Amino acid sequence: MKVLVTGAAGFIGMHVSQILLARGDQVVGLDNLNDYYSPQLKHDRLARLTGKPGFSFVKMDVADREGMAKLFADERFDRVVHLAAQAGVRYSIENPHAYIDSNIVGFTNILEGCRHNGVQHLAYASSSSVYGGNTQMPFSEHHSVDHPISLYAATKKANELMAHTYSHLFGLPTTGLRFFTVYGPWGRPDMALFLFTKATLEGKPINVFNHGKMVRDFTYIDDIAEGVVRVLDRTATADPAYDPAQADPARSSAPYRVFNIGNHAPIQLMSFIEAIEQAVGREAVKNFMPMQDGDVPATHADVEELAAWTDFRPAMPVPEGIQRFVAWYRDYYKV
Ligand code: NAD
Repeated sequence: MKVLVTGAAGFIGMHVSQILLARGDQVVGLDNLNDYYSPQLKHDRLARLTGKPGFSFVKMDVADREGMAKLFADERFDRVVHLAAQAGVRYSIENPHAYIDSNIVGFTNILEGCRHNGVQHLAYASSSSVYGGNTQMPFSEHHSVDHPISLYAATKKANELMAHTYSHLFGLPTTGLRFFTVYGPWGRPDMALFLFTKATLEGKPINVFNHGKMVRDFTYIDDIAEGVVRVLDRTATADPAYDPAQADPARSSAPYRVFNIGNHAPIQLMSFIEAIEQAVGREAVKNFMPMQDGDVPATHADVEELAAWTDFRPAMPVPEGIQRFVAWYRDYYKV
């Protein structure tokens, strides 16, 4: 298979590309290598892919309309894993345009590229944040999720709606992947585990939002990457529910799906911090703070749809995943 992986120098993109390359797929990795966080980390992730048989890299912005159209026409991908996006809930409060450019304009270019060039399946990153202020736990794909509470979440919800129209109008098989707080080796420096580990190792204070009462369904990177690849290998066209002859009239007959990919074992932020303290061997200096705008109090993935479709459920216990992250962090930064 020839697969376009956008955001290949990113946290999830690198891990997904590694699995695809290891099983012999051809991967074209695309990234604009922006400086939202450490360009060095992105460079080092990319270095783990470069030179592997079947891998090539394109430095491009997904919002570059002509560049993207040409790339799709020249390369003729079988499948697309679209992970490039402006991520981060808090950053979206002050930097709205970055989200519109990458997540809306960029996503339109991906949809158009797939539509005109015979792509068999588009799997793209959505987010647990689309559930917004939903308090019905666990979060199920069947819950109404119409009220995102950050622009980041709104762009992800918009992606799902845009994908539905392309599935419906053009028969493009699309699958939205609602990732739940992803952590692990090569993780993002703007996310809690990275920030807390760094500060605790350096003896500096950590900011604990919502006084540590936040609940998150932290999901290990290997489980996320495995889930992405399993989903990529199936398309909604194989689902009897989307065969117009057998379709449930209450559901769309478009080859369209969304899945939660989460650990389905949420924990309180304070327990997460305790596990970091154990792994690091030092107590964290905690600076308790109120809830941040745009953050939701709790997340919890229902993964029954994912399990029914792919026979896969994330399984990594959080303390073990944190141990693996801290081991990677110490090795990478030599601390
Ligand atoms: P990341 O920031 O590490 O990776 C995204 C990559 O995309 C980066 O390397 C960045 O340089 C690239 N990129 C950004 N804008 C681009 C553009 N306009 N053109 C080309 N490249 C661009 O983030 P990640 O954690 O690997 O997340 C991957 C996807 O999963 C994103 O869509 C994100 O919104 C989504 N997601 C992540 C999490 C999480 O907890 N990490 C949770 C939910 C959803």
